[in-house]
Amino acid sequence: MRITLLTLLLTLSFNAHSFTLTSNNIHKFSNSTVLININDKNCLQESKDILKLAVEATNIYWNKISLTKINFVKGVRTRDTHNESILITCETLHTDDITFASIEGENHFIKINSEKMHVFLGLSKDEKLTLIGHAFGHAIGLGHSQDSNSLMSPFIENGPRKLRRLSYDDIDGMLYLYGK
Ligand SMILES: [Zn+2]
Repeated sequence: MRITLLTLLLTLSFNAHSFTLTSNNIHKFSNSTVLININDKNCLQESKDILKLAVEATNIYWNKISLTKINFVKGVRTRDTHNESILITCETLHTDDITFASIEGENHFIKINSEKMHVFLGLSKDEKLTLIGHAFGHAIGLGHSQDSNSLMSPFIENGPRKLRRLSYDDIDGMLYLYGK
């Protein structure tokens, strides 16, 4: 009886996900190795650090999840957009949102808001890693999660203050998209 109850509880908790997707029609990567590239045309001098930080963030978050069939690695400086890579850009983000929004991710892009570059650069390294990790989640197709402990919680965007860990919900989302 005890085992049955435990199984039931585990089943319930594993099924109760709250991750969302950015759309119903995500372009999934088909290669197992995906490059993280940067177009630093409008970035400040610190742009090289941003690529390095993005790689580091990916290694502590999305690459850490075992049982996925995808791995993100450091790419090159390029102006090309390519469906099979993630591209970091610096640009003016037109948003009505007056909240943080120094960085956002969508559909294989991570965009650093040029007008709030100083805000982003003024953050601690842990905050930057967390924000990039969150934007990266959007770039690969994950939307916001209702789980407030997750990396994909929308509240992260207001300033994470410390390094976040992946929650089971983040892992579920990643496995849903790219599980083996
Ligand atoms: Zn977000």
